[in-house]
Amino acid sequence: MRFVDAHTHMELFALKEIPLEGFGSLPELLRALESFEGGSLVAWGWDERRLGVFLERKHLDHIEYPLLLIRVDGHVGVANSKAIELLGVEESEKFDPERGLLFEEALWEAARKLKPKGERLRSCLMRGLEEAKSMGIVEVHDFVDPEVARLYAEMEKELPVRVVLMPYYEGYKEVLRLTEKSGLALGWVKVYVDGSVGARTAYLKEPYADREGWRGVLLKSWEDIAKIVVELEKENLRVSLHAIGDGAIEECIRAFEEVGPRLKYHRIEHAELITEEQARRVKKLGLLICAQPNFNPYFMETYMKALGEERAKRINPIGMLDSLGVDMIFGSDMMPFDPEFGMRYAEKILGRGKARYYYGGWREEGRYGFDDQSLKSSPR
Ligand SMILES: [Zn+2]
Repeated sequence: MRFVDAHTHMELFALKEIPLEGFGSLPELLRALESFEGGSLVAWGWDERRLGVFLERKHLDHIEYPLLLIRVDGHVGVANSKAIELLGVEESEKFDPERGLLFEEALWEAARKLKPKGERLRSCLMRGLEEAKSMGIVEVHDFVDPEVARLYAEMEKELPVRVVLMPYYEGYKEVLRLTEKSGLALGWVKVYVDGSVGARTAYLKEPYADREGWRGVLLKSWEDIAKIVVELEKENLRVSLHAIGDGAIEECIRAFEEVGPRLKYHRIEHAELITEEQARRVKKLGLLICAQPNFNPYFMETYMKALGEERAKRINPIGMLDSLGVDMIFGSDMMPFDPEFGMRYAEKILGRGKARYYYGGWREEGRYGFDDQSLKSSPR
């Protein structure tokens, strides 16, 4: 089977130089860290249930290079003294100096500063793409900042699978400039409209089941989105809107209804809580939903807790979307990065033929690609 993974973050391979999830005890982990020779390390994936201890600064302070280890949930990480010194972070509600714990934005800011760059980042990306190829993936739609885009442009000729660049809105002009002379495919421009169910930041119409009165966070209103769509369409570009909650999805649809998009296949990423009524409007607008069938088996426990049974049962409704004829494309979002995992669930819901169709990047007009008729309006 040849897969298209339409939602990847290959950059996460830069956080897998040491695969933290593989260690079953603290001494085992420390031995690997002590012998690591990279000068600094940001790694992701530890879990106190496996390690037998919740990591703190004191466990890592004898390591002589700056070190930041992100917990498996991505909401907290631990830094050693070398890293704290280098980062110059100060005590706040997002940083506990005593235990060396960094939370949320402070954590991601630190990870961004310490993550490998240049040659080292490039070999991490390459490792990720090789892994993709070994799983039968022929094309990834990868979210990129200008630095990652530049590295892809440099290694264009050696890429083991086709990479469609998905620049973040904040840096998209820079990405356009850096890749202008390359033959890389430019995909959709990513805009965050809300957060995630796990962090209780997906924007819902009704409150969360486990947080009274709380509906999550809306990052962009329909007016903001409409402006962006108009701006991008002027350059023959399409938008990729990260929207998980039904409230956020509503803002996206409203924006398109107001604008009346000229281009077909603007994308909504995830659309986890899309309702049938919304799905009909999405179909009418010619939008493309990038869904993650893997999320149901992977996150069901979280969904039940955060949303309650009724909403959890109708989340990521690929069956409903398919039956209404909404255009879909599937992507893993790296949770986990394994198309067979999502395929197993999608098959159960859609049957093998349909599951393969969406995982192969197909739509009515043919195989997804920038050379096909329907996307001729794309700059390349
Ligand atoms: Zn993602």
